[in-house]
Amino acid sequence: MKKIVLTLPGFILIFTLQAQVRIKPLAQTGYDKRISDYISGMRVVDTHEHLEDQAAWIKPGKLDFMLLLQHYAYDDIRSAGMPKQTFNKLLTDSLTVMEKWNILKPFWEATSNTAYCRAALLTADKLFDVRDLNETTVVDLSAKIKKAYQKEWYNEVLFKKCKLDFMLVDDDNSMLADPVQFKHVKRFGEFIFAVSAQKIETIAREQNTPIRTLDDFVTALGVSFHKAMDHNNVAVKIGVAYERDLFFEDVTKEKADEVFRRIMALPAGSVLKYNGSEIKPLQDYMVHRILDLCKATDTPVEFHTGLQAGDGNYIDNSNPTHLTNLFLKYRDVKFILFHGGYPFGGELAAVAKGFKNVYIDMCWLYIISPSYSERYLHEWLETVPASKIMAFGGDFRNVENIYGHLLFAKQIVTKVLTEKVRDGYFSEGEALKIAQMILHDNAVRILNLGKR
Ligand SMILES: [Zn+2]
Repeated sequence: MKKIVLTLPGFILIFTLQAQVRIKPLAQTGYDKRISDYISGMRVVDTHEHLEDQAAWIKPGKLDFMLLLQHYAYDDIRSAGMPKQTFNKLLTDSLTVMEKWNILKPFWEATSNTAYCRAALLTADKLFDVRDLNETTVVDLSAKIKKAYQKEWYNEVLFKKCKLDFMLVDDDNSMLADPVQFKHVKRFGEFIFAVSAQKIETIAREQNTPIRTLDDFVTALGVSFHKAMDHNNVAVKIGVAYERDLFFEDVTKEKADEVFRRIMALPAGSVLKYNGSEIKPLQDYMVHRILDLCKATDTPVEFHTGLQAGDGNYIDNSNPTHLTNLFLKYRDVKFILFHGGYPFGGELAAVAKGFKNVYIDMCWLYIISPSYSERYLHEWLETVPASKIMAFGGDFRNVENIYGHLLFAKQIVTKVLTEKVRDGYFSEGEALKIAQMILHDNAVRILNLGKR
């Protein structure tokens, strides 16, 4: 075989030609290890979780290997054909660990390729030293999970292993109250999905004030909003892309009032369809009123964009470009668009680039697809100011999966920044600075975490 000898200048030439656009000189040897070490040791802000209290997991049937498959691997296992009721049975104490595994096994083998399932494998390995999920490991893994919960497990995982400075917890769980590390995000679903007179009456009762007119309803929203912001909430979340499209028309008060009056006149037990066109003008109107409040109080608003969890939905509803009229009207409100807009990464880049008030949040994204995350982080760093990208939110209910997800995120951020330095797009110093921004400092600044 003919030997090919590469001279040093030849090697440098090939290396230089590989670069897409070289702006910075060749990096000093060892840059990849230095970037990796820096990112793996970094403190992080976690911008989005649904974390439940440690005590909530210490119940029969909850602490076994199935813990690692909850929330998202679940979706893929169902997508591979397991009925919902069967999966739900695996989360109870009606079966032994081995019985659960035997039911799961064919579905696990069908779907363990997906990133949701890979994340569970990585978590089992890195937190519990268990290398695979199979009939020889599930009993051991389950015992180790159970044992972990006998100590201060949350503190150990979140603050020692994940090194989190702050975590933002979604509205649907408010048991975590430490005002230093945990911050909350408030949804106002009761005002957006007020589909019956009874639902409006519930708000009136809670506030101890009658709600008879649309003006009363808007006043009640203001009361609820200010109360939430006085209680450790730092942002508003709007998750309606699960139920409808993200185009919120700037409807007249008269049009919204018509719907409000219809709802108030409905007979007891009747509702307007909460995802139907009939209620849309009132929903649109109330979302605009939420944005008025955000503007007046410098409160950021987070929108679910892109993929909807669960079994089947209208992906077109969640395209971030539907929000454009809001970006234009509320120029002073910070719009944080979740989940890297999967699969609308290009559209997300365009709106985050074009609007000063639009930000990218990569929560949930790495376990949807590491390749998409890598591809678009490369692209967003070329198109969007780095000061507007937040690169981690676990989007889980339990700490184990948050840790596994963070390992995904750190590996991908490291890979992208290393490649950008290798190719001469960034210098090593710039890459380290950007890591610090997107995994920590941006979130503190954008979400005013130091102040509230
Ligand atoms: Zn979420």
